[in-house]
Amino acid sequence: MLRPKTNKKEDIKLSKDSWRKAKKIFSYLRPYSGQYFIGWVFLILSSSMGLIFPLLMGQLLGSGSDTPSSMQGILEKVSIDNVNSVALGLLILFVGQAIFSFIRVVTFTNVTEGALRDMRHDAFKRLIYMPMDFFNQNKVGELMSRISADITQVQEVLRTTIAEFFRQIIIIVGGVIILVYLSWKLALIMFATVPVVAIIAVLFGRFIRKLSKKAQDETATSNSILEESLMGITNVKAFTNERFMLGKFEKAIDMIKTLNVKSGLWRGVFVSFIIFCLFGAIVFIVWQGILMTQGPNPELAPQDFFSIIMFTIMMGASFGSIPDMYASIQKAIGATEHLMSIMEQENELELYKGTEKPAMTGKVEFKDVTFHYPQRKDVEVLTGISLAIDKNETVALVGSSGAGKSTIASLILNYYPVSGGSINFDGVNANAIAIDHLREHIAIVPQEVILFAGSVRENIAYGKTDANDEEILKAADQANALEFINGFPEGLDTQVGDRGIQLSGGQKQRIAIARAILKNPTILILDEATSALDSESEKLVQDALNNLMKGRTSIVIAHRLSTIKEANKILVLGEGKILEQGTHEELMLSPGNYAKLVELQTFE
Ligand code: ADP
Repeated sequence: MLRPKTNKKEDIKLSKDSWRKAKKIFSYLRPYSGQYFIGWVFLILSSSMGLIFPLLMGQLLGSGSDTPSSMQGILEKVSIDNVNSVALGLLILFVGQAIFSFIRVVTFTNVTEGALRDMRHDAFKRLIYMPMDFFNQNKVGELMSRISADITQVQEVLRTTIAEFFRQIIIIVGGVIILVYLSWKLALIMFATVPVVAIIAVLFGRFIRKLSKKAQDETATSNSILEESLMGITNVKAFTNERFMLGKFEKAIDMIKTLNVKSGLWRGVFVSFIIFCLFGAIVFIVWQGILMTQGPNPELAPQDFFSIIMFTIMMGASFGSIPDMYASIQKAIGATEHLMSIMEQENELELYKGTEKPAMTGKVEFKDVTFHYPQRKDVEVLTGISLAIDKNETVALVGSSGAGKSTIASLILNYYPVSGGSINFDGVNANAIAIDHLREHIAIVPQEVILFAGSVRENIAYGKTDANDEEILKAADQANALEFINGFPEGLDTQVGDRGIQLSGGQKQRIAIARAILKNPTILILDEATSALDSESEKLVQDALNNLMKGRTSIVIAHRLSTIKEANKILVLGEGKILEQGTHEELMLSPGNYAKLVELQTFE
């Protein structure tokens, strides 16, 4: 089976293609590039200003010393002997940063929300115009939750993570430069120790996580044993398999224990390692630093030493936050890739090339049509179907379930391309007709009517979205729906659907019929309800249908003998072929499939 691209990647492994797709996000940022640029300028400004803070703090903390600081030349304007002015400097710094950060946050949010609005719009447009086959291959619920999760991921990263990530990078790069400037020697000692310890810590952490993951998997196994046993408790008991299940469970929980104990041991080692190595390294650096500030000719001024300590703390925090941010960015790239792979799939606007707009009077002709569903190429659902339906004729399709009745209806709506032969409307090949034009002339009254959350008026007007009340009421009247609609205190404004009132099956059908009347198609597809209505409803629905079918070509997936008897032509389908065709009288003359169906009274 053809697997949709979008379902393929659940874990995040970024390939070249991911990047190519993720880069498309820039096309969504482009319309907002002016604002985005301003946002970046303020991001760089506020982050660079952030570097002044540890510098000033260091100078403030070491201000009692006589040794000249490397920063003294630069910071001359803020007399470091004067604690008040340093404090003032810090205050100005924070005010500046507050303003810059405000502008940064607002511009980034504006850009992100603008880009996301466009992305949501494009995603919906892409989806709603997707060919039917796409919906066969993708579960709608899954698709929706995926898209909304993807969009949230992208939103978070565009709005904050990218900015934060670059802020940390600026802090680290700026910090390294200032550190080297303040004391290249101490900086060197630091770079030779801290990153090494940090890398070992990260690798160690990963190893421990792998161990816990194994334990988690084992927990899942034990849970499924538990669930299986309890859900299937009647089986367990009937086979007296309590002991057997308990044994399976014991094995799994022993494994969980072993794995967790093992990971506990390594966690212990890890903690000792961190305490010893990381703090050891810090002590080592501080010790070396203090040594440098000592002696008759100190290599390092205490102010600079304090600045270095402040920078180190800040850079440490920046380093620490990078893996998480990197992970979110990676996830967002994955999410963008998902979104873009939906956006890259061809939809009907691109797939259907037909432009002709024939009269569409209601003449439909199948010429030797063969068909298989796109994702099931090996199963021929229809083979050699030839059929001519004249203007205003009623054709009943009968045959056992799975015979291909609904498939024929789908093909009339051109939901799928035929695999062989052709379908013509008024002599024009369906593929040559503009798809909008084709579907505008066809209406369908389905077996299961789905009403949208909204008013009765909106639900009927779905057949013609610009209809006025007069037209809607007329259609409702012809569909035998006016009486019950008027019976509601709010009339056409009555809310239906999930949150509104529940309509009966017969009422829903009449709404659907009113919808179809309003659409005023030349070709009608009816999928008769199999579930029986009470006889009064049945009559009202039947009358409404008779009104609807007047003066139109009707293709009825029929389940009722009364409908079938009145049809101009009956097609008995079986195994993808037309087994018999003719009027009721004609078909009853010979003892074939149709006669058998009539005898059994089942037209499914
Ligand atoms: P009927 O309406 O007569 O009950 P259908 O037209 O629904 O029959 O189905 C005809 C055949 O096509 C069946 O074998 C069914 O399994 C198959 N089929 C129907 N819909 C799809 C689909 N979306 N994808 C693949 N196969 C389908």
